[in-house]
Amino acid sequence: MMGPGALTLLLPVLLGWASCHPIPGRKSFHKLLLISFDGFRWDYDQDVDTPNMDHLAQEGVKAKYLTPPFVTMTSPSHFTTISGRWIEDHGVIHNMMFNTETLKKYSYKTTQNKTEWWDNGVLPLWITAQRQGRKTASFHYPGGGATYKGEAVQRSLVESYTHPNSNETEWRENIDIVMNWFTKEDFDFVTLYYGEPDSVGHRYGPETENRRVMIQQIDRTIGYLVEAIERYGLTEHLNVIITSDHGMTTVKKKPNVTEILLTDYISFQDLVKFDIVDYGGFGMLLPKPGQEEVMYQALKNAHPHLNVYKKEEFPEHFHFAKHERVLPIVMYGDSGYSISGQLILYFNKGDHGFDNVYMDMKTIFRAFGPDFKKNHLAEPFDSIHIYPLMCKLLGITPEPHNGSLAVTQEMLVDTYNQQSGAKMRRASALQNTATALSVVTGVLAVLFVAGVTFTVISRKKQRADQNSRSEPVRLTEL
Ligand SMILES: [Zn+2]
Repeated sequence: MMGPGALTLLLPVLLGWASCHPIPGRKSFHKLLLISFDGFRWDYDQDVDTPNMDHLAQEGVKAKYLTPPFVTMTSPSHFTTISGRWIEDHGVIHNMMFNTETLKKYSYKTTQNKTEWWDNGVLPLWITAQRQGRKTASFHYPGGGATYKGEAVQRSLVESYTHPNSNETEWRENIDIVMNWFTKEDFDFVTLYYGEPDSVGHRYGPETENRRVMIQQIDRTIGYLVEAIERYGLTEHLNVIITSDHGMTTVKKKPNVTEILLTDYISFQDLVKFDIVDYGGFGMLLPKPGQEEVMYQALKNAHPHLNVYKKEEFPEHFHFAKHERVLPIVMYGDSGYSISGQLILYFNKGDHGFDNVYMDMKTIFRAFGPDFKKNHLAEPFDSIHIYPLMCKLLGITPEPHNGSLAVTQEMLVDTYNQQSGAKMRRASALQNTATALSVVTGVLAVLFVAGVTFTVISRKKQRADQNSRSEPVRLTEL
């Protein structure tokens, strides 16, 4: 009578012990630092001495190049890297936040604290990692200052309006701050962003001595990073990914070409309610009611280097236009052709935002640390695949995403996968043994309990019979 009841009570306890107990041999995951140097074109290290980056290629992984998502722009591309989602899924479709009712536009830096621009239901890796018990931080990384479903990144520094992009001393200080976060505060995942060489590429153009000088500054900073990792004792504990968001191309200007000026083809006053133009090689227009077809017909063959689409006809392979924020008329220029609206105000000598098929829009991927192979040259891949790689390195279960671990798996040391596979199998075998032992122990315990109970009941019954009174028998008495 007592046997089945006690078995029911005891087995979950015993099995629970078996499954909660730490399993010997379980892989412990290394820390991860993701660094982005904004606008670092894939080939910027090929016409200037970069001894530290060359050394890293020997010590780690270098991809031939990385393809960013379309639109090749800072906030959209960074959010694809940190979420593994196409831009039309995550909804950060531009650097500028805008409102077609109030007609307001907000600059890149203004958006950094505006949760409503970033939080469209897709969780960035910081939040997913935090929900799985990791400590995460963002140092100037786009989107790191917002909250997602009410949750903020545990430590987040947002770039100020006046933040200088190219102060090398500050760059080094930031590396030391991040190293302290890893070592003194045990952060697991940190994203670190630098605004160069994007600024210099815009201002002077990519094919200039100014850009080459900046690449040397970045190379020295990477050398400082490697030295700091050693100094802080993180060499065996920290994986590092260095990447970027897009490339840069020289803007084509008159008199060499006919620039794209939309007001040459349409009347803004008659047709346009709202526009996102004058921002590099990409633009969108919201027609006044009933004017969409007129606008489209007027623009579609207007300029030989301007590509104009209705939103619903925008090429699907860009994975860009399905989001509700995308305006009805979507345009991009051929490489180097910036899109101006009513005036050519544009002073940039270099720009991006163009089709991600152009080599000038491609960017970099480098990685090193205990889980990466050495001297490994990887084939080109899309930046959307960085997300599942980061999840793998951190031991995080990813959110639904558009990337694939298969693309980057070969970058990891062979022992990483074999070990984690073998360890999983070992852990599984141990768990099975523990479960079997628990069942045996449970059954033995039940038999013992039943035996003792039977003896006690018999004795009490005998006593009760002798004393001619009944006495309740409680399990606790046993
Ligand atoms: Zn950028």
